[in-house]
Amino acid sequence: MSTTTNARTAAAPGAAPDAEADPAAGLARTGALARLLAPVRTHLVICALLSALGAAAGIVPYIAVAEIAALVLDDPGGADRAVWTWVGVGAAGAGLWLLMLVQSARIGHYADAAILHDLRVRIVRHLGALPLGWFRASGSGRVKRAMTGDLEEMHEVIAHALGRLTGALTVTVVGTGYLLLVDARMALIALGVPALTAVFYRISMRSMTTHMNRLIAAEGRISAASVEYADGIQVVKTFGTGGRVLRCYDDTVDEYAAAFAAWVAEVRYSSAVSRLCGSETAVLAAVATAGLVLVDRGSLAVAELVAFLVVAIGLPNSIIPAVTASQGVRKGRMGATNIERLLAQPPLPEPGEPRRPAGHGVEFDRVTFSYDGVTNALEEIDAVCPPGTVTAIVGPSGAGKTTLASLLPRFYDVTGGAVRIGGTDVRSIRSAELLASMSLVFQDVALLRDSVAENIRIGRPGADDAAVRRAATAAHVHEVIERLPDGYDTPLDAGGGALSGGERQRLTIARAILSEAPVVVLDEATAALDPDSESAVQSALATLAVGKTVIVIAHRLHTIAGADQILVLDRGRLAERGRHEELLARDGLYARMWAAQEGVLV
Ligand code: ADP
Repeated sequence: MSTTTNARTAAAPGAAPDAEADPAAGLARTGALARLLAPVRTHLVICALLSALGAAAGIVPYIAVAEIAALVLDDPGGADRAVWTWVGVGAAGAGLWLLMLVQSARIGHYADAAILHDLRVRIVRHLGALPLGWFRASGSGRVKRAMTGDLEEMHEVIAHALGRLTGALTVTVVGTGYLLLVDARMALIALGVPALTAVFYRISMRSMTTHMNRLIAAEGRISAASVEYADGIQVVKTFGTGGRVLRCYDDTVDEYAAAFAAWVAEVRYSSAVSRLCGSETAVLAAVATAGLVLVDRGSLAVAELVAFLVVAIGLPNSIIPAVTASQGVRKGRMGATNIERLLAQPPLPEPGEPRRPAGHGVEFDRVTFSYDGVTNALEEIDAVCPPGTVTAIVGPSGAGKTTLASLLPRFYDVTGGAVRIGGTDVRSIRSAELLASMSLVFQDVALLRDSVAENIRIGRPGADDAAVRRAATAAHVHEVIERLPDGYDTPLDAGGGALSGGERQRLTIARAILSEAPVVVLDEATAALDPDSESAVQSALATLAVGKTVIVIAHRLHTIAGADQILVLDRGRLAERGRHEELLARDGLYARMWAAQEGVLV
């Protein structure tokens, strides 16, 4: 099969969420992260336990310093043994902290690598099973996001946020316990200040989910729009800043900025107070003031104040990483939900008992199709396209030409009726076999970042160089290739590099010729080519069509005047059918379209 993306793909960057809404509707909104991480749950639990143990060990050196200070203050010069014991305890705590930190990170990263590898494979396999129509509706940005952004957000949770959160929680619990033992009143003061952080943090995060959803949705649209923008850069350059694609990109960036500004405006005060209360300075000020008053009144020992100054000041340090980690967990949840939604997209149903087509004639039998289940894009289309003939599909824009042609390779499945190849319903043919039986040559020629020869060889992997050259010659592109710096070995970039539009089209036609697929579906270029290119493309197509069932979506009627049959679509219905002369004689829609185009040509 040789295929290219269609210009329509680029027109729907925002279509992804809608396209995914239905199958995902049945999934629980929460819990996606837990479900996707289930295979490594044990590893994650061990990672969290080690992290908690490490954090508890990490606080021991601070406690040791406080205890040493107390000993020295109580009995200067007389507590040697006890001091050295605490030095040993502190050093052991520091050693254990380091060991646990390394082990926890090791296990976390191991789980991360295992599960992300597993998910990548699942996503790639699933993408391979999705109907091509999904890609058309979703755009390449959605695919890119699933393979990169969403997975990175999950990585952040597994490898970093989980350990940080459990660590912070443990430091808070152990530190609080110790301080309560030393002096309950001071402990309440020391903890009251960071507790205010939590209160103000909660206030600032009240509408976090709404804002975050808006931001992530806007981020997704920027990602989709930038991919579409890069894909359509030629069009963008041609039309300058007024181009629709650039406007679309601008709009998505503005939308992101507006969403961000709205969030910042809402939370600026609560967030600032929350940060201030969570700072060491705030805790130091509160502890020192209250402590000095109590020492002065004789109800607190200086050694106890030292314990607070050493241990309590460390507590806010564990809160800030906990806050960033919890944000990471939120993002990870979003990423997991997106991935789960993607995996919930129904794959193209494969036939239970596959059948093989007996021949390669194409038949549309009372074909009805609806994109949204409400309005029909096609209604009751009947047509027979015998082998060895050319059928042209024409009609005004939006009439349903592309949709009708898309049903043949099962970009979508019919809503009613049937599409058959060689008498067999396309839904009963294994999808790999179905796609191998046809060449799809669509408007926007997709070339891969590979040599010219390999770009043609995609038509039939394993074909020898002579076959590639024969196909290129038949497609009237051999001489063009010979003139390239390295001939058939010249690397092409994804856009086709130095080749003109007509040359790129002939390259994809060579690909289709090489594939020898008996059914050809081609979307004729809407953009006019120069006359030489036009006639070269026409001759290439004539060679491709010999002995095959050809279905052409035609935009310029004079190129299909010689077709065996012309189907004239109008608002999803078959308005007229016949050969060029018959249709002109009918003086209907086709005749009017012909007159209009001839008028343009004159
Ligand atoms: P043509 O190729 O003749 O210009 P199409 O087959 O592209 O027409 O479109 C037929 C109708 O289906 C139009 O009303 C169009 O808006 C609608 N349509 C096309 N693609 C999609 C899609 N992916 N989702 C929803 N509606 C679509």
